[in-house]
Parts: sequence; C-alpha cells; structure tokens
Amino acid sequence: MFSISRKLRRENKTVGFVPTMGALHAGHFSLVKAARAQCDIVVVSVFVNPTQFNDKKDLEKYPRDLTADAAMLAGFDVDYVYAPERAEIYPEGFSTYVYVEDLTESLEGASRPGHFRGVATIVTILFNTIRPDFAYFGQKDAQQVSIIKRLTRDLGFEMEIVELPTIREESGLALSSRNALLSDDEREKAAVIFRALREAKTAYKGGERNALKLTEIVQKAIGEEPLAKIDYIAVVDRETLQPLDKIGDNETMIAAAVYIGDVRLIDNTALNRKQ
Ligand code: AMP
Repeated sequence: MFSISRKLRRENKTVGFVPTMGALHAGHFSLVKAARAQCDIVVVSVFVNPTQFNDKKDLEKYPRDLTADAAMLAGFDVDYVYAPERAEIYPEGFSTYVYVEDLTESLEGASRPGHFRGVATIVTILFNTIRPDFAYFGQKDAQQVSIIKRLTRDLGFEMEIVELPTIREESGLALSSRNALLSDDEREKAAVIFRALREAKTAYKGGERNALKLTEIVQKAIGEEPLAKIDYIAVVDRETLQPLDKIGDNETMIAAAVYIGDVRLIDNTALNRKQ
C-alpha cells in the first residue's frame, strides 16, 4: 500500500481515505461518496483494530464480513480496499503507541480505558501508510474526530480531516455496525437515544443554556425505556471535550452512551454548531 501511495503522490493525484472497521452501512458509504466526489483516488481500509478494544468479548463479537464489504465498495467506485492482516499492522514486538493527552480520558475514554490510544495508534499507522490528502470521519464518533484533528495537527500530517453528518435510520437511530447485534425489538427501542437527544436540542433552541438541565432531559427520556441503561450523558465543548455548566458561544455537543440490552451504543447532537 505504501508503494502505491508513493506512486500516486508522484502522479499528483489527490488521495481520499476512509478508515473503517468493516460491517459497512450507509454511514460509511456517505464518507466514501464524499471522498469519491472530492478526490482522484479513493482508499477505504477495513481493519478491526484490536488495540482499541478494551473488552476482549466485544472484539470477538464485532461483526465481520469482508467479502460483502468489498462487493459493496465496488459499487461505489472505490480504487483500493486496504484490509491488512493483524500482523501487518502489529508485527511481533510492536511497541509504539500514540497517546493524545487531555482529549482521550473523558466520555468514551473513561468508559473504555485505552480505547483512544488504540484509535490514535491505528490512525497514525494508516495515515503514514496511505498518506492521504483528505481523510473522512463521521460525526457519530465526535470525540474521535476531535482527537484525530488534534493528532493530525500535532504530528504535522499534511492533510485535511473532513467530518460528515451522522446517517440515521428513519427512527432516528444512528447507523452503526453494532446495530447488527440488536434484536428487532432492541433496535426499535434504541431509537429512544436520539429522541432524547433531540428533546434536549429542542430545549436548547427554546433558550435553555444550563447543561445540567439539558442532561436531565436526556436522562428522563431514556429512563422511560426499560431496556436502556445509561453509561454517560455529557454536555461538552466540541473541540476541547471539556464538560460545561453553561452553554456559551463555543461549539457544544450533548453526547450519550447507552446500553440497549448488552449492546453499547453512542450518539450525539451538536447544540450550537457554527456552519
Ligand atoms: P467504524 O467502522 O465504526 O470504525 O466507523 C468508520 C467511520 O464511519 C468513522 O469515521 C465513523 O464515525 C463513521 N460512521 C459510523 N457510523 C456512521 C454514521 N451513522 N453516519 C456517519 N458516519 C458514520
């Protein structure tokens, strides 16, 4: 892959890169379409990155279907599907990790220790291998986007991080590879997460600026669904990910992680996004 990317750079082709863990859905494809529209060459990686899983069982049960993924990507005119073996990324004796301070310990980082060290490490390896001009990420994993933007700046990658909106089912449930692990009933009930976030957003639009009040709105709405168990709900600055008491002018989001049965889902909504 590295020699291909060198050749492409010599030819002055712009390279768009979409990193994924496979089990692809319309959320991933929206990133692929954006890359296709913007770049000469589109590279999609499919790699279930073991170092970002703090829970071995979660890693084992993560859905995988490379044959189906590759077939679907062919329909989007993707130039390269990069699906490395684990040993290609992490050869024996691998011992170098990337740690982004400050942004990685809250929210997902607090619930999943080591998760973002794994994410930052794999993204750095993939950026180094593929050397893209643009890399595409979903707002659904908003903390991940903030961390990757910081990492890209700090490590001096000459590329742009493009963030695209969350694609949802009609019910409002954010598409996620993990949705495949939900029963039909759970999937229906999981819509409560976005409904609750939307209620908070409506209150924000109505003038509510108190983070605790907005959090309580989400708590209450999710609390009405017996299958749902809240991991966290937080109102944070979108860039620094610091929790806020009161919402001011900076970009702010309300983020949630919720178990529906055994499946842990995350979602968020921007409150005062500058367009
Ligand atoms: P994953 O395969 O879950 O690691 O996700 C790969 C990329 O797809 C990440 O940038 C995610 O944020 C993005 N993504 C996942 N779900 C969605 C969605 N529903 N809408 C938009 N992007 C998504």
